Amino acid sequence: MHSVNAVIDAIETKKFGGGLSEEIVRSVVGGYTAGEVPDYQMASLLMAIFIRGMDYGETLALTRAMAESGKTYSFPGCVDKHSTGGVGDKVSLTALPIVAACGAPVAKLSGRGLGATGGTVDKLESIPGFSCDLAEERFTRQVEEVGLAIIEAGELAPADKEIYALRDTTGTVDSLPLIGSSIVSKKAATGAGHLLYDVKRGSGAFMRTTEEARELAGLLVRLSGDLGIEASALITAMDNPLGSAVGNALEVRESISLLKNEPVPEDLNGEVTHVATRLLELKGIPESAAAVERALSSGAAYEKFEEFVSAQGGDIEALEDLPISASVSEVRSKRGGYVARFAASGIGSAALALGAGRAKKGDKIDPGSGIEILVKAGDPIGEGQPVARLYGEREAERAVHLVLEALEISDEPVDPPPAILDSL
Ligand code: URA
Repeated sequence: MHSVNAVIDAIETKKFGGGLSEEIVRSVVGGYTAGEVPDYQMASLLMAIFIRGMDYGETLALTRAMAESGKTYSFPGCVDKHSTGGVGDKVSLTALPIVAACGAPVAKLSGRGLGATGGTVDKLESIPGFSCDLAEERFTRQVEEVGLAIIEAGELAPADKEIYALRDTTGTVDSLPLIGSSIVSKKAATGAGHLLYDVKRGSGAFMRTTEEARELAGLLVRLSGDLGIEASALITAMDNPLGSAVGNALEVRESISLLKNEPVPEDLNGEVTHVATRLLELKGIPESAAAVERALSSGAAYEKFEEFVSAQGGDIEALEDLPISASVSEVRSKRGGYVARFAASGIGSAALALGAGRAKKGDKIDPGSGIEILVKAGDPIGEGQPVARLYGEREAERAVHLVLEALEISDEPVDPPPAILDSL
């Protein structure tokens, strides 16, 4: 069916809650990617899908059509992980060099940050010279020789790139079938055979409740399985930022500390070792937890990180002291008590105001800007105690206000919240 007829048919069908056939879905996705279907018709269809939903068969058809809209790679022996996005989430930067050092090769596609959530590509680019723009041959060679390579979405799943940009400006991002098909299409196009999804829930995530996160996790695992990927998922908390650093170079610095086996906040350490262990289990590597411990204590994980950075053009000499903003200020608590929460959404917005993220596509970020959190949920604090260090010059005053607003203080002692909520 020609895409122009298919999209009108699809809008009419979905408007009344009908089901879309695989043929129509393929035709619309192909037509939109080729520029034959205009934005206004695609936006209308996306809104109909947002309101009416899609059943599993339609969602699988959309995922497959987007996965096959460009080049597809195949790395059946590789592992990959995907986070649905959070604040201070540096699990990919740390867990992946660990598993690569343990003999599980990683082929990964990553994205940039948008809004208050960060992206692995932006974080890595805070290392002078580092590039995620690798051609297919170089990517494949690096996976074989180094055991770890990360590229930016581009030629892979181009339909998702176009559709995601349209969703972002038409209020159609937060739809379960659209999120599920968007994520899994990119993973299927990259072709790693073993995959762990880290589905975040909380104020700093797409999914606000554990129930919603569980539903998304179930969909991601099922779609992946039907596309030949062995997958499992974790549900993790994103009410507070993970670790203490938020912002690109700051997060790479904290990741380096973890990889060098230096002390980092327990929520970060616990989540990274758990994710690394699960990835090794997926790959069938025995005694996974002990292997992770060994990779960290022997220095092998950090060596693997250096090897990976160097292979992608990064200056490993610069890793010792990555440039951060010289414009630094401290935020102090207005009262004493116990930290109930340092809300991830507020900290993410403050980091964005300082220049660590983009309010809209194409904005230029300041890689050395961000926030260092000095207190974690559960900690006792006194009036006037420094709670955060701010780096960067853009909108610094607004950032201070947002950080203070994000700090929730209780008069009663608070237990630190668990980082991992469920797994499937
Ligand atoms: N991440 C994606 O890749 N796609 C979505 O739709 C949402 C989060």
